[in-house]
Amino acid sequence: MKILIAEDDPISRRVLQANLLKWGYDITVAVNGREAFDIIKQPEPPSLLISDWMMPHMDGLTLCRNIRSLNITRYIYIILLTTKGEKRDIIQGLEAGADDFLTKPFNQEELKYRILIGQRIIELEHRILQLANTDPLTGMMNRRAFMEQLAQETDRAHRGQTPLSFLLTDIDHFKQVNDTYGHQIGDLVLQCFSKTLKEALRTYDFLGRYGGEEFVIAMPGADDTQAEYIAERLRKKVEEMEIIRPDTKELIRITSSFGTAACSLSPLETIDSLIKRADDALYRAKSQGRNCVCRAEKPKG
Ligand SMILES: [Mg+2]
Repeated sequence: MKILIAEDDPISRRVLQANLLKWGYDITVAVNGREAFDIIKQPEPPSLLISDWMMPHMDGLTLCRNIRSLNITRYIYIILLTTKGEKRDIIQGLEAGADDFLTKPFNQEELKYRILIGQRIIELEHRILQLANTDPLTGMMNRRAFMEQLAQETDRAHRGQTPLSFLLTDIDHFKQVNDTYGHQIGDLVLQCFSKTLKEALRTYDFLGRYGGEEFVIAMPGADDTQAEYIAERLRKKVEEMEIIRPDTKELIRITSSFGTAACSLSPLETIDSLIKRADDALYRAKSQGRNCVCRAEKPKG
């Protein structure tokens, strides 16, 4: 676990650092509140902060308030170090958003266990987040998590004027799979389908379950032509995939259809319009006989 120490006093800072290193934590050090706040604002910030109360430039209380007002997805657990320890100071600290307090000079064992409490809470939060973002059947991102990331990627594409493609895919005649083999085999087919797609994607592409047998893929950096090329590769992989029914060892084969849409860099393009265009393209792929890829029309205007 990454821990950030914010402490202006060099001796206290060294003592903290030595202890935390001995306990095996990954440490970053800041000598005042402002420096600590800059570190917190970077991507992948430490999950736990041990901060002194009295510091130059930005004190511990202000640092707490500033961190809590940030719009970051991961929780940061804050332990405030204080020489104060009076009830009204504690209340002030709690109001500012601190999770715990330690009175200076602190006892090493106490520090160790207070960090462990923080670690437990961070790990629980991480687990809850993971559950909330994952489709339980396939282990892929669920629709909500996918849409959140897609929103970030479309923002990035618009800001940087870089390509981004979106792909909608659906198993052909999936109802027949369920009707012929039952829902358990239907579930197995969904798992194999999503796994095959995921394995064939590039590392920075991401995949989510949109609903039922429909999956969505975002491909940052891919234009129209690349998206169509990747979709064609995915379509082939699915067509070649061999699913063996566990009980009868019967071979099951499926095919899938794809609609691709490149995000227009015009500000008029919204996530809804992007999805709508990919959906129309998928509809065309279905009506052209399935097991094929169709590219969306360029947006109007
Ligand atoms: Mg101080």
